[in-house]
Amino acid sequence: SNPLLTVEELTVSFDTYAGEVKAVDNISFQVYPGEAIGIVGESGCGKSVTAHSIMQLIPTPPGRYAKGKILFGKDDLLQKSEEEMSKIRGNDISIIFQDAMTSLNPVLTIGMQIGESLQLHQHMNKQAAYARAIEMLRLVGIPSPEERIKEYPHQFSGGMRQRVMIAMALSCNPKLLIADEPTTALDVTIQAQILDLMKDLQGKLNTSIILISHDLGAIASLCSRVIVMYAGKIAEAGTAMDIFHQPQHPYTWGLLQSLPRIDMIQKQKLAIIPGQPPDLLSPPTGCPFHPRCTHAMSICQEHYPETTVLTKEHMVHCWLQHPDAPKPKREATA
Ligand code: SF4
Ligand code: MG
Repeated sequence: SNPLLTVEELTVSFDTYAGEVKAVDNISFQVYPGEAIGIVGESGCGKSVTAHSIMQLIPTPPGRYAKGKILFGKDDLLQKSEEEMSKIRGNDISIIFQDAMTSLNPVLTIGMQIGESLQLHQHMNKQAAYARAIEMLRLVGIPSPEERIKEYPHQFSGGMRQRVMIAMALSCNPKLLIADEPTTALDVTIQAQILDLMKDLQGKLNTSIILISHDLGAIASLCSRVIVMYAGKIAEAGTAMDIFHQPQHPYTWGLLQSLPRIDMIQKQKLAIIPGQPPDLLSPPTGCPFHPRCTHAMSICQEHYPETTVLTKEHMVHCWLQHPDAPKPKREATA
């Protein structure tokens, strides 16, 4: 089938007092109908900027869509007016954030908030919208939705608020749901429940999902394809199988090592990748990961590794895998 979303050579810059920052630098990927993809990386790697660009939530200025296209079906979202985008947001594409409290209106009941968007986007009357809101709350596992719909956001626990957010995001039956660190603020047990819920809903509603996370564990539970970002660029992309079982980029290796394992939790400190993410005002030359990479070669400091296609799905930006990389010198044999 055709992709639902095609991001093509997208570059998003921020003009700052100190100079230009390329928060997202020439990235391309697709999302197919009904699939969940994960975008993973440390904070500041460009994953949220990518997600927010799709919804055109980047403040411009200081942000700027410097290059590329974001095709939703055949339409380039970057060419849409604000009025056209406001029809797409919440209706065709929804987004949920880490902290539901900042996205929900504290002075409106949950019923009013879900109902409002249904009346606006789906042109439902008040009663139909209310009935649909109850149905959505039930779908996301909120007990006695007929009662709870009359309550305000602060009357819900963190986990329940996140369920409300998901209900609201899915109420207009969007084709694409973007989830930006949706479980980061929750404790581990609730995190797992919310991810299970998203997986369940994705199966039921056939919504495509882009899950943004710094946590490969969260991505593993939901996504069939994974994009690893570093310094605004794609470091590696592949199926979940590729990324979890055949990772080829040293940064992916580092992320995988920092994954908590059930048997290790609380027994051992997690391995973290040494060093800091780069300053994007003056990014490192060559491969942006080279200052932190234990495998770095001299070419890594000089030249950026272009895409190496490993299989139809799996690609990586690393000199270790690149066919033009200098071969290690062999000692002459007598
Ligand atoms: Fe490390 Fe070089 Fe690969 Fe970059 S290109 S990840 S520095 S080995
Ligand atoms: Mg973020």
